Amino acid sequence: MVLEGLSSSLRDTLRKIANAPYIDQALIKEVVRDIQRALIQADVNVKLVVQLTREIERRSLTEKPPEGMNNREHVIKIVHDELVKILGAPKDVRLKSQRIMLVGLYGQGKTTTAGKLSKFYSKRGLKVGLVAADVHRPAAIDQLQQIAAQVSVPIHLDRKERDAAKIAKSGVEALRDRDIVIVDTSGRHALEDDLIKEMARVAKAIAPDEIILVIDAAVGQQAGPQAKAFHEAVGVTGVIITKMDGTAKGGGALSAVQETKAPVMFIGTGEHLEELERFDPSRFISRLLGMGDIQALLEKAEELGKEKDLEETAKKMLSGRFTLKDMYDQMEALAKMGPLSKVFEMLPAQFTGRMSSQDIETTQQRLRQFRVIMDSMTEEELENPSVIKSSRVHRIAKGAGVEPRDVKMLLKQYNTSRKAIKGMTSNRKMRRALMKQFEGMDMGGE
Ligand code: GDP
Repeated sequence: MVLEGLSSSLRDTLRKIANAPYIDQALIKEVVRDIQRALIQADVNVKLVVQLTREIERRSLTEKPPEGMNNREHVIKIVHDELVKILGAPKDVRLKSQRIMLVGLYGQGKTTTAGKLSKFYSKRGLKVGLVAADVHRPAAIDQLQQIAAQVSVPIHLDRKERDAAKIAKSGVEALRDRDIVIVDTSGRHALEDDLIKEMARVAKAIAPDEIILVIDAAVGQQAGPQAKAFHEAVGVTGVIITKMDGTAKGGGALSAVQETKAPVMFIGTGEHLEELERFDPSRFISRLLGMGDIQALLEKAEELGKEKDLEETAKKMLSGRFTLKDMYDQMEALAKMGPLSKVFEMLPAQFTGRMSSQDIETTQQRLRQFRVIMDSMTEEELENPSVIKSSRVHRIAKGAGVEPRDVKMLLKQYNTSRKAIKGMTSNRKMRRALMKQFEGMDMGGE
């Protein structure tokens, strides 16, 4: 588990809030002190910690909980939201053709990360190619070659060429039939002038869509100045923090990078090539705080402000149009903290039993797989899944890097949901009653 120490102290703090007989200033002050201690131990910058905890204290003592939420729940939500804030907004990871240039100092995990990214995009049905543009260390080329073989993607290299920009350019040309080309560039022990010049020349030669900086979590708060320097030198579009599994300092690295405006895209959580996670601040914090415990609470908060979404979703479902995409959106909303839990509460048990009794974590795992599978489908298939026969199942499974039975499971789930909804919407009386309920629903939003 990433940042285990921080996670367990924050969970203890939340428990303290949840079990308190009442919330008063003394409790808030104690909670704030606990959070400060936990964050500083995770290497988060002291100034940032003070700022953050002051905000938690101020909001907890002055803001009134929205209708339908009690004081304890409200304080827990404030803690969650303020922690998310210090990690910044999530960065979109585009699943389409692009050139990615990886930059970073020696030993940060750049080459390994090139392999992890290859795997990440290949699994989503994109064709990946690697370019070895580290002209200074022959061993780096060997290492990338091994990784390319491990993840079965083609690699472009030229052991005689000394000009990184030339290799990068010829690599991009040689691999032009690939969707994603990842160029692994040289590192140095420090950000020196000649490295900056080399990176700038490579960038100019290939015009990358993303320039991603790879940083080791163990550098802690130093990740901030490092990201800033690289950003100023070549315009970094995203950061990957590696080795989040191995250090308590990850909190420092994550929060420091946020200040540089180059968002964290992924985190590396182990030496294996699958151990790469998309970084989404809200999900990350939810997990750190103990997903199961605060999930319901977040759901509630979300519900309070989202009656519109609920209405739209409900109407769409009741209109009888229900595509795979709709199912995905609904499952995602449900797993995330969806207003849909309210919808599902009103649906017949044979349907809700299937969906909402699922443990959140399992649903999310399944969702991740569904997403990957759906990314390998055509628009036609998503809109009209009945066209998916056996040969298509195989094609989709191959593109998604899963077994045909996984694709079949998705289709089965879809058919079950569709039937349940169809049954429900053909029952006119029930349909009218439900419509009425949605229309007249007072969600107590802000
Ligand atoms: P480079 O010099 O930046 O190309 O770094 P490498 O890719 O060679 O990685 C340096 C070391 O870090 C290797 O031993 C990797 O196995 C290890 N490494 C890379 N990423 C991770 C990670 O996310 N977690 C852990 N535990 N080790 C990692």
